[in-house]
Amino acid sequence: MKPAADLAVIGGGLAGVEAAWQAAQRGYRVAVLEMRPQLMTPAHRTADLAELVCSNSLRSNQLTNAVGLLKEEMRRLGSLVMDWAERTAVPAGAALAVDREAFAAGITAALASHPMVEIVRREVTELPGDPGDLAHGAGVCVLASGPLTSELLAASLAEFTGIEHLYFYDAVAPVVEAETIDRSRVFPASRYEKGDPEGYLNCPLSREEYDAFYEALVGAEAHPRRSFDKAIFFEGCLPVEEIARRGRHALRFGSMKPVGLVDPGTGRRPWAVVQLRPENTLKTLYNLVGFQTNLKWGEQRRVFSLIPGLEKAAFARYGVMHRNTFIDSPRLLKATLQFRGRDKVLAGGQLTGVEGYVESAATGLVAGLNGARILAGLSPLVFPAATAVGSLCAHVSGGGADKTGGAGAADGAQGTGRLRRVAFQPMNANYGLLPPLENLVRDRRERNLYLSERALKALDDFIKDHVLDLAPVTWRR
Ligand SMILES: Cc1cc2nc3c(=O)[nH]c(=O)nc-3n(C[C@H](O)[C@H](O)[C@H](O)COP(=O)(O)OP(=O)(O)OC[C@H]3O[C@@H](n4cnc5c(N)ncnc54)[C@H](O)[C@@H]3O)c2cc1C
Repeated sequence: MKPAADLAVIGGGLAGVEAAWQAAQRGYRVAVLEMRPQLMTPAHRTADLAELVCSNSLRSNQLTNAVGLLKEEMRRLGSLVMDWAERTAVPAGAALAVDREAFAAGITAALASHPMVEIVRREVTELPGDPGDLAHGAGVCVLASGPLTSELLAASLAEFTGIEHLYFYDAVAPVVEAETIDRSRVFPASRYEKGDPEGYLNCPLSREEYDAFYEALVGAEAHPRRSFDKAIFFEGCLPVEEIARRGRHALRFGSMKPVGLVDPGTGRRPWAVVQLRPENTLKTLYNLVGFQTNLKWGEQRRVFSLIPGLEKAAFARYGVMHRNTFIDSPRLLKATLQFRGRDKVLAGGQLTGVEGYVESAATGLVAGLNGARILAGLSPLVFPAATAVGSLCAHVSGGGADKTGGAGAADGAQGTGRLRRVAFQPMNANYGLLPPLENLVRDRRERNLYLSERALKALDDFIKDHVLDLAPVTWRR
């Protein structure tokens, strides 16, 4: 019997629609297997594909910002999500925000009317096994079921990857770009001079600074806690703002304890300390140790900028605490987004350990494009590490400029109901993932612009040399 599709996409979210589009535009029959509306996730409200579950902003649209760069790269790669984001944009200054209903409806209609796409409304309960036995009879499959993957599929995924390689919560501290830390205000040291003397950067706070920080923290606005996120708090992993609410000095006896540290500037033990730990081997990124938080992103910027040394810090990613199904990608995925040892199964979206709408769509784009290449008998592509999309694929596959797989970890990542630390943490697009420029450029805006120019040049060359050998077909609609 003729299979129903060449490529099956599990999940019609931000990643899934982009994966489907890339393969369908190259002439392959695609089945998008989406469980809504039969089975809803706790966050989605509609039956539309590419529903934005929270904010309607796709964040910065500028080439001085890594997510702005990622958007431009996606435009050049023929992204469906970027096309509809622009068609449905609403005024948002330097950001790209959309009319969420028009955005999701436009994308759903574009796929529903595509001659090579079939949208199948059903829950996939098991992961495709061996080649020849893939979902919906397809030869290649893209797994893009997202952070709220259904329970049955998550159980099957745990079997497929090994339970220790699947995470259900994301509880991470903010990460800042190293170059934006004011070194004149911080000092390197490990507690009690044990271990690497450069192990941590310490931000010392005087009593007055601590009091001001404390007041700002307990008064800051947090995301509303959703019922499906509660489990994470029962696990004993409390946000820093909730620990602070237990008493003015709770943090001084917890993650901000100053014991074992002497500020070389004063020769004394500080009143309190925030420790910064390298997030990667290049030390281009640092996380705020023990600062997992549920505060709104703008509030994190405002409150954490009160910490001495972080006044002008650029946040590579903000702290989050929410339900998030993601796999230990550095151990499971190649930079082509194929599963190691299962070449015909690819992954895209938040499940791979990227964070954010645009990042999810971008990795879906790579998975779909590579799925089409496998069907065409061409080798799947590894995007250049100097591009934002390539740097994300490198990050999730453990081979990036940040060498995530073997580097330091943010505190508080959770596993299957037990607290445990993992080396791999989900990541937004950021310049810290790109290889540094050869020449030092002090001004941050200027440096970011150079990095973006370098990325776009690398991408244009890459498209010319590699992507166009399987160019999109022009469909009449
Ligand atoms: C509550 C919440 C709020 C978020 N807010 C933001 C935000 O404001 N800004 C931001 O940039 N990012 C946000 N994110 C992070 C992330 O960028 C989005 O979740 C994004 O939608 C992820 O894209 P995706 O394609 O990986 O998953 P999704 O967009 O969630 O798509 C996955 C799809 O798979 C379907 N599915 C699941 N299981 C199955 C199954 N077994 N069979 C068939 N279909 C299935 C789902 O119904 C869904 O349509 C948020 C995440 C969560 C959980």
